Amino acid sequence: MAILKVARMGHPVLTTVADPVPLDALAEPALQAFIDDMLETMVDERGVGLAAPQVHRSLRIFVMDPPAPPGHGRPEPYVIVNPVLSFPQEGRIGLWEGCLSIPGIRGLTERWEVVLVECLDRHGQRQSFEFEGYAAAVVQHETDHLDGVLFLERMPDLSKLAFEDELARHDPRDDEDREEDEAEGEDDQDDGDEPRADADE
Ligand SMILES: [Zn+2]
Repeated sequence: MAILKVARMGHPVLTTVADPVPLDALAEPALQAFIDDMLETMVDERGVGLAAPQVHRSLRIFVMDPPAPPGHGRPEPYVIVNPVLSFPQEGRIGLWEGCLSIPGIRGLTERWEVVLVECLDRHGQRQSFEFEGYAAAVVQHETDHLDGVLFLERMPDLSKLAFEDELARHDPRDDEDREEDEAEGEDDQDDGDEPRADADE
């Protein structure tokens, strides 16, 4: 096992469409070792997801370890190969996303609230999963990496782009909420617990 070097924004591998993984390649020990290295790197970087292009391999593989839904035990991290996404519902959510390839930065993105994933697992078995909320956003973020897309391209409003440490000091809520707060006479101090993802992907 090894910790892999994470590519940062500007490296061409992050804007390249990754290649599908042939089924027989999953039988190769070298590829299985690479998947183990991806899992180890995700943990070491304290990420919730990591896509192969982020560690300089242009292959359609990502790993993810989202928080378990309330009332559920924490599952094993997912290894998703050759994903195909579909979106069965209209709903969209806003989320402050970060990315291991864009360290120190967060931005408010818009994502589908529910996602269906058809894919292979690391053993080449066909799988399908449904995710919603934060986990669904992670799936979309990681699949975007396989298509050479970074989360900045999913931001409807680039004024909602910020350094993490500034976000921690200032109210990250949208202007409407802030105007309401101001109308209620609240000051501009950090409220502290606005829900947002605090791990990078
Ligand atoms: Zn990312």
